[in-house]
Amino acid sequence: MCYMARHLLGLVLTLSGHKIMLTTIIYRSHLCDNVAVKSLEGMVASANLKNGMADVTGILLFNGTHFFQLLEGPEDQVKAIYRTICEDKRHYNVVELLCDYAPARRFGKVGMEIFDLREHDRDEVLQTILDKGTSRYQLTWNDRALQFFRTFVEATEKENYFEIPPADSWEFIPTGSARHADPQLAFKDADCGFAFQPIIDPLSQEIVSVEALVRTAGGGSPKEYFDRLSGDELYQADLDSKKVAFALAKDLGLSEQTLAINLLPMTLVNIPDASHKLLQMIEQNGLVPEQVIVEFTENEVISQFSAFTQSVRDLKASGISVSIDHFGAGYAGLQLLARFQPDRIKISQELIRDVHKSGPRQAIIQALIKCCASLEIAVSVVGVEKAEEWMWLESAGIFHFQGHLFAEPCFCGVPAVAWPEKKTAL
Ligand code: C2E
Ligand code: MN
Repeated sequence: MCYMARHLLGLVLTLSGHKIMLTTIIYRSHLCDNVAVKSLEGMVASANLKNGMADVTGILLFNGTHFFQLLEGPEDQVKAIYRTICEDKRHYNVVELLCDYAPARRFGKVGMEIFDLREHDRDEVLQTILDKGTSRYQLTWNDRALQFFRTFVEATEKENYFEIPPADSWEFIPTGSARHADPQLAFKDADCGFAFQPIIDPLSQEIVSVEALVRTAGGGSPKEYFDRLSGDELYQADLDSKKVAFALAKDLGLSEQTLAINLLPMTLVNIPDASHKLLQMIEQNGLVPEQVIVEFTENEVISQFSAFTQSVRDLKASGISVSIDHFGAGYAGLQLLARFQPDRIKISQELIRDVHKSGPRQAIIQALIKCCASLEIAVSVVGVEKAEEWMWLESAGIFHFQGHLFAEPCFCGVPAVAWPEKKTAL
């Protein structure tokens, strides 16, 4: 297809009334050690052919270890080709840096072309790449896609490339067995139960704390439990349920352990003397306030901010720590953090899902880590399910993890932890 035709195609196309958006994906990846650099030419030739047929164009940069590729074309085709690329065994740690839309192709001449940075003079390499550009206007520096080219060529982000080993280089081996509470005690006068899930430091094999998660008496979810309650009933039940949590914790032998409980912010605000009542429950079970962390979800906090901070002051004055839960899942995260600094934040599972594959998630989490380090706020993550997520987060400097990868919540009990063990090479 000639350049002009491509250029026209590059504008938003209308095909039987259906808009085709010109889509750009940029990713970075690492060449596998066992792949000869020489073999890349063949790979590019076949990619060029395949991409051409799918009307996808682009450029591939290589610096001796890493690839950096821009793909552009109709959305479905670009995404389908990117999915195939992610599966390719010749490279690993594929991280999507940008997915965006544009009025015209930046590199519209060929399906795929490889550009080896090592064969060019450092000072001129960027210009040489830009000279291959096909934008109607001079490629400009305020274009995000081109900024990514610059950072790759100049290697200014290299310290943020965490090269994690394959998922199967670790085994997760449950040690010991789950402990269960006496069922008589668990349900004595209670309309609820609790499941416990540890938050662990996988490399030092340490249980950092144990979180108590409310359940119906039959083991149903927190949603099921709270859905049956209305208005003030809900806040009262939220507070009262903690009696069961502490009693179970005591029975499970968690007296020496840091215990995390969840409270709606409005439970503290609406129930008079809530923090005092909480303290009484703690003491009645032979526990101490210093071992208790109260986790709040951010979304409800901000509406009655001053009443909330007053309650938090009472908690802190008695020795209880506070944590913002689900950080990054709601709308108020950063605004809340600007006004109120907890002892800990727990990054939500929505934010860390597949973090090893996503440039935006990596950037956000790195910024959060840096921010919390400046404020001496501890960081943990919730919902870790994949070994790669854990490895990436651990490389980024997070050491406290909660998730099914290590242990699922156990109803009226404490589960065994599957600690990671590095597989030894055969
Ligand atoms: P949370 O405090 O973030 O608790 C962690 C939730 O994530 C738990 O769900 C847990 O089962 C789940 N989880 C942990 N690891 C993984 C994982 O690897 N993958 C997946 N898919 N899920 C994982 P659960 O027990 O259903 O609790 C949901 C939410 O309900 C809690 O989120 C918390 O915000 C709230 N909640 C729990 N107990 C209480 C309570 O006593 N009072 C109040 N107000 N809220 C509670
Ligand atoms: Mn929580």
